[in-house]
Amino acid sequence: MPRTKANTPAVASPQPAWPDRLSYFSEHRDRVVNTIRELVEIESPSDHKPSVDRIAAFLASKFEALGGRTHLHRSNDFGDSLQIDFAGAANRRPVLLLGHYDTVYPIGTLANMPCKIENGCLRGPGVLDMKSGIALMLYAIEGLQAWHGALPGPVTVFLVSDEEVGSHSSRKITEALAKESAGVLVLEPAAGLRGAVKTARKGVGEYTLRVKGIAAHAGLDPGKGHSAIIELARQIAAVAKLNNLRQGVSVNPGVIQGGTRTNVIAAEASAGIDVRIKSAKQAAGVHRKLRSLKPFDKHCHLEITGGINRLPMERTAGVAALYKQAKDIASQIKWKLDEAAVGGGSDGNFTAGMGIPTLDGMGGVGEGAHAVHEYIVISELPRRALLLAGMIESV
Ligand SMILES: [Zn+2]
Repeated sequence: MPRTKANTPAVASPQPAWPDRLSYFSEHRDRVVNTIRELVEIESPSDHKPSVDRIAAFLASKFEALGGRTHLHRSNDFGDSLQIDFAGAANRRPVLLLGHYDTVYPIGTLANMPCKIENGCLRGPGVLDMKSGIALMLYAIEGLQAWHGALPGPVTVFLVSDEEVGSHSSRKITEALAKESAGVLVLEPAAGLRGAVKTARKGVGEYTLRVKGIAAHAGLDPGKGHSAIIELARQIAAVAKLNNLRQGVSVNPGVIQGGTRTNVIAAEASAGIDVRIKSAKQAAGVHRKLRSLKPFDKHCHLEITGGINRLPMERTAGVAALYKQAKDIASQIKWKLDEAAVGGGSDGNFTAGMGIPTLDGMGGVGEGAHAVHEYIVISELPRRALLLAGMIESV
């Protein structure tokens, strides 16, 4: 890896020429938009298995229509994840296309956030993160089949059901498939409206700090109580000191809970803490510091659970080589493709963390992931499909 560079004949003398490929995808643009709309209109929150399984079945039929062999990975606790294998002309390791069809939006969101076209944008829940990315997979594969008859090499598509909630049911499968692959292309949204691909992502950890104190009547027995809330406040100040933005470490107690009423000294309080790290080396240090917090008030008891779930996706030589291939393909249509390092994690963190060359942010271009204004820019779709098709050929 990489097997070929973009300036080798396999890519430099394509059939048909790059501008013709762009025209091909421009002609099919409305079909891509329709497919994205179909996907957005099947609501699929991570925690609603019947809906997630429904979109899995819908996508299985779409990929089967292109000749893919589908396999559902069943899960009891989450939706099922979908693997699709395509054979290729050349006998080589498959390219792995990675995505997720779960979203952060609860059932019923479409009523207030309908899927619609407005000023050249397609809006709707999950349109950017990442149902447009899944549609791009379908159309890039269809395009390659139209040009070559068969795919140039084998392609495995893996669409997971639980990415937005930590990928607990799918992670092992993602890692096993990545291990067999020549490289991984992740169809998560591009970075920003310039559409940069993502060559580095921070690692992500999730912790819960629970404090147990001793309850007492705030008026009658104030001296007998040991407040879990006051202890938690002091702990939060200590946790905040772990922030080191210059080194790319951030620690955010984003949710706190505790107490029962104002006239009771609180017996319980807790905080949910999000941790981001820039390099794998930082994981152990932050983890150790969080897990070794000690109570200020000896009568309070601390319980710290959680850990680093996704190690950072670091810009390794393999990642940089994939980006160079992508940049060379983009330059064929006079497109200057940027790269970006971002704070959010994805399943690309898993595969890059294993040392498998991974390029992320190959999906739709837009704004507002996880927010009410989520949208993609429709005019960006053809060249994103061209880029993905070119990368499938050259990885
Ligand atoms: Zn996503």
